[in-house]
Amino acid sequence: MRERLYRVEAIVLKRTDYGEADRLLTLFTPDLGKMRAIAKGARKPSSRKSGHVELFTHTALLLAKGRQLDIITQADTIDAFLPLRENLERVGYAYYLAELVDRFSEEGTENRALYDLFLRALNWLGDAVNNPALLARFFELRLLQYVGYRPQLFKCIHCGKAIEPIENYFSAEAGGILDPDCAQTQREHIAGHARDAQILSLTALKVLRYLQTREWETARGLRLTPEVLSEVEALLQRFITHHLERNLKSVEFLRELKAGASVGRQA
Ligand SMILES: [Zn+2]
Repeated sequence: MRERLYRVEAIVLKRTDYGEADRLLTLFTPDLGKMRAIAKGARKPSSRKSGHVELFTHTALLLAKGRQLDIITQADTIDAFLPLRENLERVGYAYYLAELVDRFSEEGTENRALYDLFLRALNWLGDAVNNPALLARFFELRLLQYVGYRPQLFKCIHCGKAIEPIENYFSAEAGGILDPDCAQTQREHIAGHARDAQILSLTALKVLRYLQTREWETARGLRLTPEVLSEVEALLQRFITHHLERNLKSVEFLRELKAGASVGRQA
């Protein structure tokens, strides 16, 4: 027999209104991955629960099994990350990190490395010595690694040769870096295609590699010009968008397959 009540530790990724006074929470947990639960009465001003289930709050929950969604019966804040909440820009970054975790996670799939990263990143965001834009790039690279989309930055994605310290190319479609020769002559033959290949400066490549391979305690010391930082940001944004769109497409494709199969059965 399954237990009716169980405890989880969670970070609140998303909150939406549900019914007249309830909230539907999207939670990220160390053992159960992403999950959703209902906080009953959380929108009532008198609710004692609501403060413990704010966005990005690290919270200890007692849940009751529901028929469809589980119900939060008790909530206690572990860490509200108050330093980060004092700065609107940093709150904006926390929203962004939470959205990335939400979009790249599937319900019920444990990802302990990503959970630990997210928890640490919320702490780092509250520390004024950390550059939030650099932190976001570090977070993106680690997240991509932990969800299985680590961009290749050391070998040419097509021929496998070590990348020379010159201007190279980057393709989100191909999944990483291309040497100039492959980018200019082999584009049509590259697995996954590389129509989107764009020039990548040597400085930006070094920064990406540094962020991908160092711990934050080391990486946070990087001092970058706005130009390099925006080149790195634009590249990662392209890479992330490519993978999210592909994800959604694959979900849709599977849905179509299923629909097609059931039509087939009926015929
Ligand atoms: Zn090559």
